[in-house]
This record gives sequence, structure tokens and C-alpha cells, in this order.
Amino acid sequence: MVAKGDMLWAWAKDEEALKRGECGGAVTSLLKFALESGSVDAVLAVKKGVDLYDAQPVLITDPEKIAECAGSLHCGTLLMPKLIKKYFDGARNMKIAVTMKGCDAKALYELAKRQQVNLDNIITIGLNCGGSVSPIMAREMIQEKFGLNPDDIAKEEIDKGQFIVITKDGEHKGIKIDELEEEGYGRRLNCQRCKTKIPRQCDLACGNWGVIGDKSGKATFIEVCSDKGADLVTKAAGKAIETAAPEGPATTIRGKVENAMLKLGDKCRDAQFEKLGNGKDRLNFIMDQTSRCIKCYQCIENCPICYCVECSTKKPYLVESGVVNPPFMFHLIRYSHIADSCVNCGQCQELCAMDIPNALYMHALQLEMQDMFGYEPGVNLDLPILSLVEEPTERKRLSDTGSDQIFNIFAEE
Ligand code: FAD
Ligand code: SF4
Ligand code: SF4
Ligand code: SF4
Ligand code: SF4
Repeated sequence: MVAKGDMLWAWAKDEEALKRGECGGAVTSLLKFALESGSVDAVLAVKKGVDLYDAQPVLITDPEKIAECAGSLHCGTLLMPKLIKKYFDGARNMKIAVTMKGCDAKALYELAKRQQVNLDNIITIGLNCGGSVSPIMAREMIQEKFGLNPDDIAKEEIDKGQFIVITKDGEHKGIKIDELEEEGYGRRLNCQRCKTKIPRQCDLACGNWGVIGDKSGKATFIEVCSDKGADLVTKAAGKAIETAAPEGPATTIRGKVENAMLKLGDKCRDAQFEKLGNGKDRLNFIMDQTSRCIKCYQCIENCPICYCVECSTKKPYLVESGVVNPPFMFHLIRYSHIADSCVNCGQCQELCAMDIPNALYMHALQLEMQDMFGYEPGVNLDLPILSLVEEPTERKRLSDTGSDQIFNIFAEE
């Protein structure tokens, strides 16, 4: 019997999952078990597309097809919760098991508290995440820094601080991530700033950190984060997965790696935010960078916090229609609507047609708002700052008191 809070090693019973899985295939086997046992109607996972730089989301209802998704795609920069909201009606009428990185987990929570997804119908299998690499950057980096043809690469890995590529001929080549990032390559900038390395918001948090000795690379360390997760592992143990208690200093080692990653995240935040400047300099920098926006709407389409049926940026009395490049108001609207809840998923930057570092500005703003109001998005189901005030009640308060402070966030209760 497994309970919330337990930590264990797990690996697949099934030979195919064991062989194809990144670290012993426990995640593949748990997903398959959830589908076969009827705990879910479908699995949302990520599959290699035309090549390993092409991570494609897939909804699977046939358990035999789950193994096709085995393995970790480090160029898989996609965001799963927005897909659940957009294409599966927020899992309102179907039960889904889904794999999630830390940014996915935070985005899911923000969508759940806005009632855009039904958490009760979703089993979340979290993946620890040291970072992901933009597919275009990965190709360029392999060409320029590794001196290899990106199309000759059979597998990429991130291990012990190195980005490692393995060619189709079996040649291994690794370069330190620090070195790559100093030269502008490596993980996405938002990943460098990210401090959600073990996604404990999920039902299970799975990764290779803390698997040592003979089992290193052949098992996954699972932290059981909810009763739902405990139930899945309890039922699957012995049938779909084998489990064992973490040996010796495994748990301590995992903790040390996590802490080192958190410190690195702080260092990267300081370095990146410093470049933004402060006050008016920062504003001028942002206005200058966003002036090349072509209003492709990718930032809005892919942001997990943007889901409004009638987006204010499309209202002509706020942003004049048919004008490209759009006025700064276009961006101001997004900053004011999203900044308190930005989860630093990077989508608005990764997918921006003009390579505008949108996530950097939004994350910087979010952290300042977090300092001011104490609201940290994506960690729990507490409501965001802007929803603390109900509009009709607030309008009445304004009318009764003649106050001009719309959101009474400074009031002492
Ligand atoms: P498998 O049985 O191989 O199943 C993996 C599942 O992950 C598959 O279902 C697949 O669809 C899904 N998946 C693959 N790529 C993605 C993606 N980009 N987004 C969402 N789902 C995906 N563990 C650590 O301990 N430290 C790390 O630094 C670390 N970094 C990672 C970075 C990325 C981008 C990813 C995807 C995973 C990372 N992991 C990390 C987790 C680790 O690589 C394994 O996924 C985990 O140990 C489970 O192994 P497994 O053999 O049980 O998984
Ligand atoms: Fe991983 Fe964090 Fe980057 Fe998301 S933002 S891919 S969780 S490092
Ligand atoms: Fe993600 Fe950008 Fe939205 Fe922040 S603003 S949640 S980084 S898409
Ligand atoms: Fe909604 Fe504002 Fe995002 Fe538009 S920019 S979708 S109005 S949150
Ligand atoms: Fe502008 Fe970039 Fe947003 Fe497109 S994604 S609307 S170019 S900021």
C-alpha cells in the first residue's frame, strides 16, 4: 500500500516499456495501466514526430499505442494544459492521464482555479525537469558547437550538467550546459530561470534524480504527491510496475541536486533581469523590443492564462484595428491581465513570430507582483490577486464610497 508522501523507485514489468522508456519505463507502464484499468478514458502524452526535435502531443485511447511515446523529448517545449482546455473541453466529460513538466503543472493549476479544466478528471504524471531546449536552437547548437549534422543525431540527453548527443553511428559527445549557456545556447531562457524542478503539484513526480547504483538509468524515482497518485501506484504495483525503496543516500542526493538547480535558477534570474534594466530604462527597453510585433497573436493563443472568448486586444476602442505594428497598448493589456499569474512557461516567447522576449518581461513583472502581494502562481489553488475582488460588489463599493481605487487589495481585513 503506497501513501501520499511516499518515495520509491519504479520500473516497468513489461519488456517493451523497460527497453523503450527513458529511465526504466515506469511512466509508460503507469499510463498504460491507467488506460487498461479504466481509470481514464485517454492518455495525453508526447511522441517523437518527424525527428527528435519534433515533439508532438498525442491523445491515445488504445493501450498498445502508449509505448510509442516512451522516452524524454528535451525539445518538447509544448504546454499540455492549454491543449486540454482548448481541444478536450478542459476534461469536463472525459478522464485523462497526462504527462507534465513543472510549467505544465503550474499552468494546469491556474486554469483549474479559473474553472477552465476539471482537475477531478485528470491524473497528472509529473516529470522532473532540468530544462528544455528550443528545437531551432538545438539544431543550431548541434551544428555549431558539437560540429555534427543535426539530422545524424539519434538521441539527446541531459546528464550530470552536460548536454549529450548520440549519433546514429553510436558516437557520444557531451558539452557542459554552463559552457553552452554562456555562449547563448542550451536551455530556453525561461527554463534557466525556472525553479519548479520537481512538480509536486502533480499526482506523481517522476525523474531520474535520486536513482543510484545498479538501478541508475533503469528506474524512475517517484515522489507520491496525492491520494490519487498513491491509488494509481498501489494498484499498478506488481501488475504493471516493480517498485523498491530508494537505497542508501538516494533521497539525500535527489534533494541536493534539486537545491543546486534552485540556486542555479536564482543566479540565472539575477543575470537575465539585470540586463532588462530598471524603471524607465526597463520600460523603454520593452517598448523598443515590442515595437516589432506583427500581431500574430501566438502569445495570446498559447498563454495558459489567456483564454477569454472576447480578447480585449481585439477591441478597436482599445487597440486600433488593422494597424501593424500595433500600439504599445496591445502589450500593456496582456501585461495587466496576466502579470500576476504568469507561470514562466515561455510559450509567448518560444512561439513569438518576431522573437520578442515576452516571457522575460512577464516573469520579471510577476515576481515583482509576488513580492508586493505574496501571490505565487501555480503552486496551489489559491485564487489570483485580480479575482479577490468581485466586480459587482466592487462597483457597489466604489459607488457607495466614491473611492477611485478599483481593486481594494491594500485593505486590511
Ligand atoms: P518513460 O516511460 O520513458 O515515459 C516518459 C513519458 O514522458 C512519455 O509518456 C512521454 O510522452 C512523456 N514526455 C516526453 N517528453 C515530454 C515533454 N517534453 N513534455 C511532456 N511529456 C513528455 N528527470 C530528472 O530527474 N531530472 C531532470 O533534469 C529531468 N529533465 C527532464 C526534462 C524533460 C524535458 C523531460 C521530458 C523529462 C525530464 N526528466 C528529468 C524526467 C526523466 O527524463 C524521465 O522522463 C522520468 O524519469 C521517467 O522515466 P520513465 O522511463 O519512467 O519514462
Ligand atoms: Fe522544465 Fe521549467 Fe522549462 Fe518548464 S519552464 S520546461 S518545467 S525547466
Ligand atoms: Fe507563459 Fe508567457 Fe503566459 Fe507567462 S505570459 S504564462 S510565460 S505564455
Ligand atoms: Fe483575455 Fe487579456 Fe489574454 Fe486577451 S490578453 S485573452 S483579454 S487575458
Ligand atoms: Fe506580437 Fe510576438 Fe505576440 Fe505575435 S507572439 S502578437 S509578434 S508579441
